[in-house]
Amino acid sequence: MILNNLRTALAGAPISVRVTGSRIAAVSPSPFQQAPHDLSIDLEGALVFPGLVNSHDHLDFNLFPALGDKIYNNYTQWGQHIHQNFKKEIAQVLSIPIHLREEWGIYKNLLCGVTTVVNHGKKVRTTNKHITVYEGCQSIHSVRFEKKWKLSLNNPLKKKLAAAIHTGEGTDPSSSEEIDTLSSWNLLNRPVIGVHGVAMSCQQAKAFKALVWCPESNYFLLDRTANVDELKAHLPILFGTDSTLTGSWNIWEHIRLARKTGQLTDQELFASLTINPAQTWDLPCGELSVDKDADIVVAKCDDFFSVGPQAILLVIHNGEVRLFDERLLSQMALIEPDNYCRICINGAYKYVAGDLPKLIENIKYYYPQGGLSLT
Ligand SMILES: [Zn+2]
Repeated sequence: MILNNLRTALAGAPISVRVTGSRIAAVSPSPFQQAPHDLSIDLEGALVFPGLVNSHDHLDFNLFPALGDKIYNNYTQWGQHIHQNFKKEIAQVLSIPIHLREEWGIYKNLLCGVTTVVNHGKKVRTTNKHITVYEGCQSIHSVRFEKKWKLSLNNPLKKKLAAAIHTGEGTDPSSSEEIDTLSSWNLLNRPVIGVHGVAMSCQQAKAFKALVWCPESNYFLLDRTANVDELKAHLPILFGTDSTLTGSWNIWEHIRLARKTGQLTDQELFASLTINPAQTWDLPCGELSVDKDADIVVAKCDDFFSVGPQAILLVIHNGEVRLFDERLLSQMALIEPDNYCRICINGAYKYVAGDLPKLIENIKYYYPQGGLSLT
C-alpha cells in the first residue's frame, strides 16, 4: 500500500509512506511510484500521524451517558452518588450484552483515529479486531473499590508485569493519602501505571512508571485535573479518555480541553498520544518510521488540534484499511466493499470495517433510547 503526498501532523513536512504487510516499509519526503496490483492513494497534502493510543478506557462502559450532577471530592463519593441516584440508567445499559458494549467501545475509538486502546478491567469478550485492545498489563481497579488489591499487587507470579490502577482521583486529603498507601504496599517494586493522579505530588510520582492523564473525566467529576505541568518532569504522561460515564465519546474534544490547560506543549501532548504510550506499554507503534506497525491516520484539516471524526480520511491498522472517507472511494478500487459499512458523521460519509449499523440495531434491541446518532 502506498500513501502519497501527506504532511506530518505538527511540523507540516512532506511525507509519503509505503506499507508492506502490517508494517511501515518506507517513508520519504517525495511520493513513491505506484505499483500495479497495490493500493496507492494520493492524499493531496492531508495531515498524517500515527494511530492514536488511548491509554485508559473501559470499553464496556461507553454506552452510558455522563452520570453525575455536581462536583465531587473523590471517586468513591461519585460512585456512591451515581449508584444511588441513577439506578435505572445504569441497569438499562448493563442489560445490553457485554460483547455488544465492548464492540461499541472499539468503534468509539476507531471512528476518532485511535488504533490502540488500553482496556481497564476484565479481558474483553468481543472478537472485533479492528483496533488493538491492549491487555498486557494487570488491571487493578483502585485502593478503595477493589477489596483484594494488596494481594493482586503483590502476586509473585505477576512480579514483572506492569499494573494499571486508578489512583489519586480526588481533591481531598484522603485522595493523596491513598497514593501513599498504594506505593507503600508495592512490596515487589512492580512497575505501576497510575490513572488520573489528580492528587499526585511530584514526590509521589517517583514511585510510578507513568501517569495516564484523563483531563476531561477529571474536570467532569472534580473540576480539577492532575498537575501534569509539574509531574511531567518525573514520569511519562500518557493520554486517556476514560469511558463516556465521565466525558464525550470523541477523544478530540478531550485533546482540545487538554491543550487549553496549557500544561503540556503541543509536542508533549502529541507524545502523550503516540510515542510515550508506545514506550510504556512496549508496543511497536506510535511513530511513522520504518518497521513500526502500520497504524496510520490521515485527516483533512489545517492542524492536528482541529481534527475530529468527520475530518478523518483514512485509518490504517496493522496495514489494513479500517476506515476511509467517501472522498477516497474512487481510489479504493482494490478494497473489498462488502467488508465495510457506510455511515455518516456530522454530514461526512465514511466507510468503516465491519457492520456498525447492525451493531447499533442489536444494541437498540436492548436499549432503544441509546444515544447513538452516527447513522
Ligand atoms: Zn477509569
